[in-house]
Amino acid sequence: MSSTIATTSDYVERIAKVRAAMTAQLVDAALLSVGHDLPYLSGYEAMPLERLTMLVVPRTGHVSMVVPRLEVPRVVAQPDVFSIVPWNETDNPIAIVAKLLGDAKRIAVGDQMWARFLVELLPHVPGATFTRAVDVVGALRMSKDASEIAALRAAGAAADRVAAQLHSGKIPLIGRTEAAVSADISSRLIAEGHNVVNFAIVAAGENAASPHHHAGPRVIQANEIVLCDFGGTMNGYCSDITRCVFTGAIASDVADAYAVLFESQAAGVAAGVVGNACEDVDRASRAVIEKAGYGEYFVHRTGHGIGMEAHEDPYMVSGNKLPIAAGHAFSVEPGIYIPGKWGMRLEDIVVATTSGPDSMNMANHNLIVVEA
Ligand code: ZN
Ligand code: ZN
Ligand code: ZN
Repeated sequence: MSSTIATTSDYVERIAKVRAAMTAQLVDAALLSVGHDLPYLSGYEAMPLERLTMLVVPRTGHVSMVVPRLEVPRVVAQPDVFSIVPWNETDNPIAIVAKLLGDAKRIAVGDQMWARFLVELLPHVPGATFTRAVDVVGALRMSKDASEIAALRAAGAAADRVAAQLHSGKIPLIGRTEAAVSADISSRLIAEGHNVVNFAIVAAGENAASPHHHAGPRVIQANEIVLCDFGGTMNGYCSDITRCVFTGAIASDVADAYAVLFESQAAGVAAGVVGNACEDVDRASRAVIEKAGYGEYFVHRTGHGIGMEAHEDPYMVSGNKLPIAAGHAFSVEPGIYIPGKWGMRLEDIVVATTSGPDSMNMANHNLIVVEA
């Protein structure tokens, strides 16, 4: 796990806000394990192991990090935030957690906590009821603070530098396989400062009509579209960008559709203002594509939230009435996919602010010709 940019005072403040949400929702305790709520509140990311790691957050009183003794050296102690409760190989960590829960009756559990831990806990807490931790952590995690926005911007700038390398022809395309270009993009994401690569979709020609195409053995030809959607995690926060290039003189049907896509993406970004609903971003992008007659070829929602996770709340999808708030970070990524022919998508990460949408991606938005 890469280190995040948060400080002790951030964690103290986040725990206090979670507790305020717990009070409002009559939740007595929150249990956070594998997943991103744990590092968000403590700076520590649990290894996805069968050995239990769990942050026990009662509504009042002491916060405890129950952690296997052999993992303790990896925990950066935050004595103002939590105390470390190590367990030995012969201890029953579930019993330790149950004891810390005391007489908690309503318990929030992390969305990605392994079912086995919850199932093992059940007999220890008779009469308890459960809710998802997203109820008490989700709103907080959605609204990024200044240090988180700075991290998203830095990750976005690093991804932009790779996009610029793609646009300038520094990443050869013609004659290489999608998989080779994907590996090239991945190593450049690392070279530009990412700690991990989360994905590097490279889809050429008709493969680009499949939005989540896996880069494969197909060799990229001259005179076709190449869709590249890539991102990673840098200092705990994610980048995610899509740009398309054309390996020759742009075919007129592709050029026409791209002009619509460009306008659609800009309309979605412009709708990402505080007070609009999340679904308004989707509606704005979709309206442009529908009006141009490509509506049936835009087969996915317009965007997803992003932060410590590449996909998280809030989702820019029809039906999501959640008002956009300052600090919400999300993708705007409309696409047009013509089965058997070609596909295209244009994606930026945007943060809603009181002075309007703030784009984390500045890379050229045009369909660039790359004859390399
Ligand atoms: Zn996706
Ligand atoms: Zn993407
Ligand atoms: Zn995305």
